[in-house]
Amino acid sequence: MSTKRDYYEILGVAKSASQDEIKKAYRKVAMQYHPDRNPDNKEAEEKFKEAAEAYEVLSDTDKRAQYDRFGHAGMGNRGGFGGGGGMNMDDIFSNFGDIFGDDIFGSFFGGNRGGGGAGGRRGRGTRGSNLRVKIKLTYEEIAKGANKKIKVKKYVPCSHCSGLGAKDKNAFQTCGTCGGSGQVRKVTQTFLGQMQTVTTCPTCHGEGQTITSKCGHCKGEGRVYGEEMVNIDIPAGVQEGMQLSLSGKGNAGERGGAPGDLLILIEEEPHPELQRDGLNVAYDLYISFPDAVFGTSLEVPTIDGKAKIKIPAGTQSGKIFRLKGKGFPSVNSYEKGDQLIHVNVWTPQQVNGEEKAFLEKVQSSDNFKPNPEKSEKGFFEKVRDIFS
Ligand SMILES: [Zn+2]
Ligand SMILES: [Zn+2]
Repeated sequence: MSTKRDYYEILGVAKSASQDEIKKAYRKVAMQYHPDRNPDNKEAEEKFKEAAEAYEVLSDTDKRAQYDRFGHAGMGNRGGFGGGGGMNMDDIFSNFGDIFGDDIFGSFFGGNRGGGGAGGRRGRGTRGSNLRVKIKLTYEEIAKGANKKIKVKKYVPCSHCSGLGAKDKNAFQTCGTCGGSGQVRKVTQTFLGQMQTVTTCPTCHGEGQTITSKCGHCKGEGRVYGEEMVNIDIPAGVQEGMQLSLSGKGNAGERGGAPGDLLILIEEEPHPELQRDGLNVAYDLYISFPDAVFGTSLEVPTIDGKAKIKIPAGTQSGKIFRLKGKGFPSVNSYEKGDQLIHVNVWTPQQVNGEEKAFLEKVQSSDNFKPNPEKSEKGFFEKVRDIFS
């Protein structure tokens, strides 16, 4: 049992070979000993399996490192090749996808899978299509996350035939085109020479059987147009244009096929007072001139109810207050945005006689003359501060 050949030797590559070289070498050896090209040749089959095993180890950085250090002894059961019996053909072929591409991948299955023993690869029926719905959320819902129940019009499995499309249990017969295997073979020319390819049977779509008597309710489709109430949990922090996917909640498949997915497109309902800016929320606050002079405390709307804020005496128009953590949560981290309150001091649009007299009196007063301190930040600095 310990007469195993060195993996590098099997593939004919140096110990320092790159992944690409290993892949190329394996491809060459696998082609040479492929069972389709060496029918009933036990020795070729062994060599073929041996190469697959070598490739499985050497193509995996971890396994390769282990093999380099300890040789075959280091592989233990980790390689998954059991007690020297080698890999089985299904294992080998399931690794072929990345080397030969899926087209040719199919052909190897055919050559070695006689009567479709493990042929359950292709499921019953045809997969249902995906459905897309839009969901409109308020800022409040986005902030907290939301649970929505929506009625989705879609194909649902036919209840009369349990989605199978047949009148009853006895209404099935083995497909005459493929003899029940669900696959048909044909010989094609590829860059590797003539090869047998195996494709899904066009008559039964790979199901291996056909329906002799269709369900009258769904006309054999196994599904009918209907509706379903779908419960959707929307995480906090989603944004306009994001798409969530609910697996299996799309259209039912035909004749028992897997259902499609339900894709949920998020839309934001505009807020009457607040404006979203990424994780932050902007709010334009208007205060009267006396309030700006004397200072005041007032309530502002947030995405989570009202918040009380203090406006200090002498607040200038254009001042921005920041309510830390009152913005939106991030959908994929613990980060939270802020609410930015932009102060606008309201200039009266009209004044009565008394007010006019007062304003004229203070017009030339030094206190009313603009006199920004050096420390007073200008508009551009403030914007820079906020976005830094
Ligand atoms: Zn068929
Ligand atoms: Zn039916």
